[in-house]
Amino acid sequence: MTNDDVPRSAELFDRARAVTPGGVNSPVRAFRAVGGTPRFIQRATGPYLYDVDGREYVDLVGSWGPMILGHAHPAVVEAVRAQVALGTSYGTPTQPEVELAEEIVARTSVEQVRLVSSGTEATMSAIRLARGATGRSKVVKFAGHYHGHVDALLAQAGSGVATFALPDTPGVTGASAGDTIVVPYNDTGAVKAAFAEHGEQIACVIAEAAAGNMGAVAPADGFNAFLRDTAHEHGALLVLDEVMTGFRVSRSGWHGLDGVTADLTTFGKVMGGGFPAAAFGGSAEVMGLLAPAGPVYQAGTLSGNPVATTAGLVTLRLADAQVYAHLDATAQRVGGLVGAALTAAGVPHRVQYAGNLFSVFFTPDGAPVTDFAAAKRTSTKRFGAFFHSLLESGVYLPPSAFEAWFVSAAHDGRAVDRIAQALPAAAAAAAAAGTEAA
Ligand SMILES: *Cc1c(COP(=O)(O)O)cnc(C)c1O
Repeated sequence: MTNDDVPRSAELFDRARAVTPGGVNSPVRAFRAVGGTPRFIQRATGPYLYDVDGREYVDLVGSWGPMILGHAHPAVVEAVRAQVALGTSYGTPTQPEVELAEEIVARTSVEQVRLVSSGTEATMSAIRLARGATGRSKVVKFAGHYHGHVDALLAQAGSGVATFALPDTPGVTGASAGDTIVVPYNDTGAVKAAFAEHGEQIACVIAEAAAGNMGAVAPADGFNAFLRDTAHEHGALLVLDEVMTGFRVSRSGWHGLDGVTADLTTFGKVMGGGFPAAAFGGSAEVMGLLAPAGPVYQAGTLSGNPVATTAGLVTLRLADAQVYAHLDATAQRVGGLVGAALTAAGVPHRVQYAGNLFSVFFTPDGAPVTDFAAAKRTSTKRFGAFFHSLLESGVYLPPSAFEAWFVSAAHDGRAVDRIAQALPAAAAAAAAAGTEAA
């Protein structure tokens, strides 16, 4: 059941559809997978979103990850205001970008970073650098992992590509797709087989450090270390994509949880504090191949933008041990409430975590989900009913059964109580929706 008593959002959506494909500037924002009218948000504060119809929602999307401190954190707002008054972009080096790079280097395994404006740019550039460093062309990726809309990385991708069950995307050339080898996640045998067959041609294996774009699916114990070792045995690099996990699951991202050092790591989301900023980094040796130090070209007019880097820097500086403890505890609490409500309603399900990323799979047997094939067994019909019931009660989930949920430092007892109160009806709606996939 979708409730569409949101006339202002509906009117804006009509106007948007006339001038923008599908009415949205990024596919996952559309409600196509769950039905109904996307909510146009006017303002946000702490854990709450407010739409143009005046409805309030507890936000479990957090702008798809960045808003780790909650919305409109006063310190971030103030720092951004001060920077904007000094000018918004100069096309020269600035102090904030140096400080943000130092903060990233201090928190992670990388020795040098290059700042860019989106996660897509970060993974695209990391792959170019891996190819430049190895002189090879092929890339190994995992089904259900999403690395932005990079041509070579869209095959069997997660996020919106999974949500809308899109076939291989038109516009990606055969040559580009032909350089991509897709293997099932957490499948060491498949990785070994790919390297046995193509080892000499593989530039890198790229993996989300923990998958968050098919729902939350953590790597099996030792899997990232296995990827590093296997890549190195064959003269290839490991690229760990921490665009979602970076500075969210710990102060050093997933690296802080399993300690595996990749050759190249990509970051985004949290490090921009709600502005467009992302990065890729690695050892000084590999990063030294980038222009102007080396021959691999990469550039950006707004890269290291002073407003974005200021927002990111303040956000990271405020994300201390207490914040991470709060995120972990809140994710466990909300996940526990969801599991209890679904169990009480007799709905088969699996609440799954990857650090403090979490999501619910409406799989028929509630078995652990370790790869994309298992994730796809989730009932999108049950999810849609669950989603709309929560939305109607003022809880905003990702409008997709294949996305992680995000909490923030601002998700307090009141916000969690609001979720708890909304859950029984949502679980009943999921029960009523039956099991067939939509
Ligand atoms: C969001 C995401 C990206 C893409 O980042 P954009 O800023 O949307 O281009 C890449 N990799 C992962 C793991 C992500 O979650």
